[in-house]
Amino acid sequence: MKIVISSGHGKYISGAVGPSPWGIHEHTEAVKVVNETAAVMRSMGVEVITYEDTVSKSQDENLDRIIGFHNAQGAHDLDVSIHFNSTDPQPSGPVGSEVFYKSSAGKTVAQRTVNAICTASGLKNRGPKTASFAFLNGTNEVAVLVEVCFVNSHADCDIYRDRFSEICTAIAEGLTDEQAGQQPDPGPGPGPGPEPEPPSGGGERHPTLQKGDQGSAVMQLQRSLGLPADGDFGSITETQVKAFQAAVDLLADGVVGPITWGEIDVLNAKMLQGNDGIDDQTKEAIDRLVVASGLDDYEWDDRGSSYPGYISGMCMSFAVAMTAFLQGKGSALHMSKALGSESKDALAWCAEEFADEDMTNGTPRERIRHLFVLLIGLGMRESSGKYCEGRDMSASNTSSDTCEAGLFQSSWNFHNSSSYIDEFFQEYWADPNGFLEIFSEGIYPSANNLNVYGSGDGAAYQWLAKFCPAFAVMSTAVGLRVLKDHWGPIKRHEVEIVPEVDELLEKVQELMEREGGSSEIA
Ligand SMILES: [Zn+2]
Repeated sequence: MKIVISSGHGKYISGAVGPSPWGIHEHTEAVKVVNETAAVMRSMGVEVITYEDTVSKSQDENLDRIIGFHNAQGAHDLDVSIHFNSTDPQPSGPVGSEVFYKSSAGKTVAQRTVNAICTASGLKNRGPKTASFAFLNGTNEVAVLVEVCFVNSHADCDIYRDRFSEICTAIAEGLTDEQAGQQPDPGPGPGPGPEPEPPSGGGERHPTLQKGDQGSAVMQLQRSLGLPADGDFGSITETQVKAFQAAVDLLADGVVGPITWGEIDVLNAKMLQGNDGIDDQTKEAIDRLVVASGLDDYEWDDRGSSYPGYISGMCMSFAVAMTAFLQGKGSALHMSKALGSESKDALAWCAEEFADEDMTNGTPRERIRHLFVLLIGLGMRESSGKYCEGRDMSASNTSSDTCEAGLFQSSWNFHNSSSYIDEFFQEYWADPNGFLEIFSEGIYPSANNLNVYGSGDGAAYQWLAKFCPAFAVMSTAVGLRVLKDHWGPIKRHEVEIVPEVDELLEKVQELMEREGGSSEIA
């Protein structure tokens, strides 16, 4: 069985918004329900494709994009859209759940799903309903549109928060007509596994955690946030929790309660569903090339040798960029485009240094590869290859847009230089897999490293640049071609250009060309 499920509305297209502080923000909660429901269905062996529109700026574009995505997923069994409803005037009591359909097959699914939601949660059952919604009219397969509950009913919102996981499980069971928790593969060993935990009174799955706490739940939290998992909630964990809270627009109090856990669940689901863009075999092949090159032991001017995962992580990021290049993706074409002006393009600005090493920048392949040679040298200058480097504590840049973050110490104001930086932000925000486990080898971040300053997009950027090193690499690669003065070491001609790095990258390039990129670009 294959199901495509998306959240209603979009990052820039607000749906219904309930009254502060208890009301629900429709789109935000719809994304959470989509992710959790998808995770449950996957555990049931269902193939699930999820979607959130993070791009559209108008209602029509939003509907077209969502419907277009559903219809582009090949043959499948069910199209599902998750919404929350609202009513005017504000209701004084509970209102409930309803599920819309168009076809008679849709009605069966809608009936089952709304019954399941209401039985599991205690929300009032408003039944299956039919309506002429664009989503139901435009999608090709059997479709339902779930209105989980009402964003401006205080009673509904309380039930929703209390019974979130039960509601998502119920939606999964209603859509599939199967029971969750009956794993297709119970694993090795005779007989049934241990009894599942009976639902506790509060229905709470995670304990609230804060500084001073210890144990396995803390380890789980640390792993989710990309920290060394010692099970000890100290100041480093607290700083990373606050950084994450700022990134997802929560109050950054360092306390991990149900709402923060909800966001961590979403992050875990994104990490689990996504991937970093190259397969394990390619990673192993790249690692062998790195070891053979001896560059892990290279002594960089004023910096010494790099952190153990740096060269590997950079080569793997380059492999991802090469894949995009071979596929003709716009961002990779931007990285490889013809030389620009010396005042803006770092490749043009460093022409003499490249010439000194007999490296020419005549072809797109040379330019994208030499851009990564430059990046590898820049990362050594800016952070010694430390993925989690925080802002320069001696500088006075403390606003969320000017704070430096990560390998290349780029700050969020650089995104104005190219729309590809925003594109990378959206892409990696949706799937933050970016070689963290490779770049972080042998590194124990400090609280100063992890600290995120300010709020909004700039805070989200700082967190993502460190949690997802490949995002820092790609966004900086794009920025270097148009905004060279953003990076002091480039401006001052301090970046070391190492021909042996170029030789290594050339081997990675050949590997990627052999692997599959068949399309030829100039
Ligand atoms: Zn809606």
